[in-house]
Amino acid sequence: MEQELQIKPLALEGVEDKRPLVIAGPCSAETEEQVMETAKQLHSVGIKIFRAGIWKPRTKPGGFEGKGLEALPWMKQVKQETGMLTACEVATPEHIEQALQYGIDILWIGARTTANPFSMQALADALQGVDVPVLVKNPVNPDIELWVGALMRLNSAGVQRIAAVHRGFSSVDQKIYRNAPMWHLPIELARRYPTLPIICDPSHMGGRRDLIAPLSQQAMDMGFAGLMIESHCNPDCAWSDAKQQVLPDVLDFILDRLVIRDNIESTESLNAMRKQIDEIDNMIMDVLTKRMRISREIASYKKTHNMTVVQTGRYSEILEKRGAQGALCGMSAGFVKNIYEQIHEESVRQQMEIMNKA
Ligand code: PEP
Ligand code: MN
Repeated sequence: MEQELQIKPLALEGVEDKRPLVIAGPCSAETEEQVMETAKQLHSVGIKIFRAGIWKPRTKPGGFEGKGLEALPWMKQVKQETGMLTACEVATPEHIEQALQYGIDILWIGARTTANPFSMQALADALQGVDVPVLVKNPVNPDIELWVGALMRLNSAGVQRIAAVHRGFSSVDQKIYRNAPMWHLPIELARRYPTLPIICDPSHMGGRRDLIAPLSQQAMDMGFAGLMIESHCNPDCAWSDAKQQVLPDVLDFILDRLVIRDNIESTESLNAMRKQIDEIDNMIMDVLTKRMRISREIASYKKTHNMTVVQTGRYSEILEKRGAQGALCGMSAGFVKNIYEQIHEESVRQQMEIMNKA
């Protein structure tokens, strides 16, 4: 049996337990002035948790790789002068040791680190016996098991104040998003671990300022616990991720306009509609079963007449006809194509079974 997660509430001191939990601050701590100025502005708009990257993982060497140890006293100063909690990314046991030395309140694991079980185990070992909240970003690749595995390693080391951060997944298609949201993955995580808080990071997901508001709203519509958003006192001049950072005032404007939906799981009318959905799903399963039965009959016919299973002309005809039908009903062509590719694959599999029967 798979290991259960022992999850305790984050219980952050001085932060109300309401949705959304907001963590904001620059991508990177650049200078003492930039850190303090951004922190003061964020504090003045009511932000309670300040983030900043101290060690910056970059795709290629030679860029700005974070200030490291030099920046940690600035974080301490933020805490002393504003009372905000501080958070930073850690990727090695030394980072953990140094961050904790400077009173960092919340640690997070970056996407590149979550993807590496060796690193995750080393971090978990370093956290043995330390009661600090740890946020785990999704791995860069869309693999939910790696994400869960990272949470499990921490949990086995005794870290129970854990949360997940959904920041999207690398993909070849970067037409809209820097990292594709693939919402079904955090939704599956929430299904498996209903008490695990999930925080959305629309900054790294969108990679663009204008996508922060719509992505944050989507996260709230899905009942996410909170948001991690990059904010800088002079975003255009940021040393990293300039395009996706917003002024603290702009962040405040975005947060003000978010519609926070109720987390209530069911109401009478919702139950009635869900019942209808269940009935329709039963009908879909019924119809699919019938369709597969006919495919098997066709396979017997093809076998006795020595014909091939896959007849590409017929397959193209189905894809075209159903695609056009779907478009008329307001469904995307891609959706209909996906469904029919799956149905066809299963149909071929079942036909092959018949063909290969002695
Ligand atoms: C970050 O939060 O600054 C960061 C580097 O994010 P990610 O690990 O999601 O790329
Ligand atoms: Mn960043």
